[in-house]
Amino acid sequence: MNCHDLCTKRKTHQKGQRFFSLSLIRRLSLLCVIFCLSMPSQIRSQEAPIVYFAQKNEPIKNHIALTFDDGPDPRYTPHLLDILKEAGVHATFFVIGSNAQEHPDLIKRMVSEGHTVGNHTFSHPNISRLSYDQLINEMEATDNIIFQLTGQKPLFMRPPFGLLPPSHVAMLQSVNKKVILWSVDTEDWRGIPAGDILHKVRDGIRPGAIVLMHDGGSRKQDLSQTPVAVKKLIDEYSSSFEFITVDQLLSLPAYRK
Ligand SMILES: [Zn+2]
Repeated sequence: MNCHDLCTKRKTHQKGQRFFSLSLIRRLSLLCVIFCLSMPSQIRSQEAPIVYFAQKNEPIKNHIALTFDDGPDPRYTPHLLDILKEAGVHATFFVIGSNAQEHPDLIKRMVSEGHTVGNHTFSHPNISRLSYDQLINEMEATDNIIFQLTGQKPLFMRPPFGLLPPSHVAMLQSVNKKVILWSVDTEDWRGIPAGDILHKVRDGIRPGAIVLMHDGGSRKQDLSQTPVAVKKLIDEYSSSFEFITVDQLLSLPAYRK
């Protein structure tokens, strides 16, 4: 199941959608609290489901982090990397292990061009349905592929669909994974025009923002507007914001040895 499938399913059950959304908000609230408590000196949270980070005892800087999920995908990732390279912008990619296995050169290119790579599971499941062993297998399979390609294992993970019950937060903490959510959801996976993606960014952008976009998806998804929006986004905000990677934004290491 991909984002499209999940959200289409939501649409068809309006009553269930409200319950699901409320449930998701509760989950994200708890996740935010747990995650922030684990790093009290560095991280501050605001209202859930928005997760907003800023350095304590320092003025908030005009830093934002662009993040891309579900790649690498040869239809979109190379073009996106070209745009980022031309603009001198570094981003964070939460990659699916099976895609990384299929397109190893794109993972190597991400790292060689200064981007950060995080773990987005191996097969993009709803991890709330996974046992401890299944979840750890998803993490380790992807970590191992990234390690083979780059010599480093990622510390960051992002749960598919943002779904993460408290029990699974504890599981991930037991293997020292840092869960990274987002504060601006562009909903680019819907295949919306670049202008609509930009509108969502304008609504949510602020210092310390983590912007969620996608550089990969299912065959029926059209993400061709995402690179267009990224180029416009960089043009529009590069004079007022500095684009940095999630590890730079949070002052955390991105990889373990
Ligand atoms: Zn995803």
